[in-house]
Amino acid sequence: MFETTIAGSLPKPGWLAEEDKLWPAWKAEGKDLARAKRDATLLWLKEQEDAGIDIVTDGEQSRQHFVHGFLEYVEGIDFEHKVKMGIRNNRYDAMVPVVVGPLKLKGRVHRTEAVLMRNHSKGKIKITMPGPMTIVDTLADRHYGDKVKLAMAFAELLNQEARALEKDGVDTIQFDEPAFNVFMGDVTKWGIDALHVAIKGLKKVKTCVHICYGYGIKANTDWKETLGSEWRQYEQIFPALAKSKLDQVSLECIHSRVPAELMKLLKGKDVLVGVIDVASDKVETPEEVAKTIGQALKYVPKKHLFPCTNCGMAPMSREIAIAKLKALAAGAALARRRYR
Ligand code: ZN
Repeated sequence: MFETTIAGSLPKPGWLAEEDKLWPAWKAEGKDLARAKRDATLLWLKEQEDAGIDIVTDGEQSRQHFVHGFLEYVEGIDFEHKVKMGIRNNRYDAMVPVVVGPLKLKGRVHRTEAVLMRNHSKGKIKITMPGPMTIVDTLADRHYGDKVKLAMAFAELLNQEARALEKDGVDTIQFDEPAFNVFMGDVTKWGIDALHVAIKGLKKVKTCVHICYGYGIKANTDWKETLGSEWRQYEQIFPALAKSKLDQVSLECIHSRVPAELMKLLKGKDVLVGVIDVASDKVETPEEVAKTIGQALKYVPKKHLFPCTNCGMAPMSREIAIAKLKALAAGAALARRRYR
């Protein structure tokens, strides 16, 4: 009961990449970089397990950014001539690569991390990948000329990698779709269909979609201020997700203005409830975490409730991220005793 997990990313150590940045530059190259990524992945695997996290991730130590890390493995994308583009409905500007030809995977994307985790962990492991809608919102297109066509092309590539990850022994595959909270109308029109393409043919793995209000960076916290006293974006997409083929939905909860009762719209799904705030350096107490779990329990049955972080912890300090992992596990342990 109350198996814990995290949204995905963790801070990169200073010897691997620049710290406190969303698009950090690597500190090494070639073989040295590959070794450093491996070391950082193992380090975070150990930190998560020592903290008591049940379903661990690679902390996304091998990718510079949660979307562009995947795109680097895709043929047909020009990374040399990035263009400036407003993303998430112009919430902030990013330098994005450009689609210039038919898309094809250059090879395996996350095999190294998946196999490393499988060999070094006795518990459950999760790999996260960007969802099709979020990908098409984080690059420019000069080839397909149609957003949905482009998204479906990416969904096929994600599916190719997802099937391979299942063979590697990964337990959960999660797609990050922060764009679902921005383009709600498109979610029901084609966003969920694209995820269905990404998960087709998967048999054993749990499939998850993570939908949040973004990393704890200024552009996002400013945006949240404009969303009013109640954030009801989930209300427009959860009924369709409840009917979808995905097993799990990861959502933002603690310190958000999301009305908790919206969780009941996810009937039948596992709900990864955000009980750790990634936009604040203040470390939650186990009591706070247990209380948030208690509130979610009013709307989510025990067997479907997985305590999680609101979003990735990539832009945080390493010490705070470790303290938050411990708070997550300790809070879930307290909740297990309290709500048995
Ligand atoms: Zn997120």
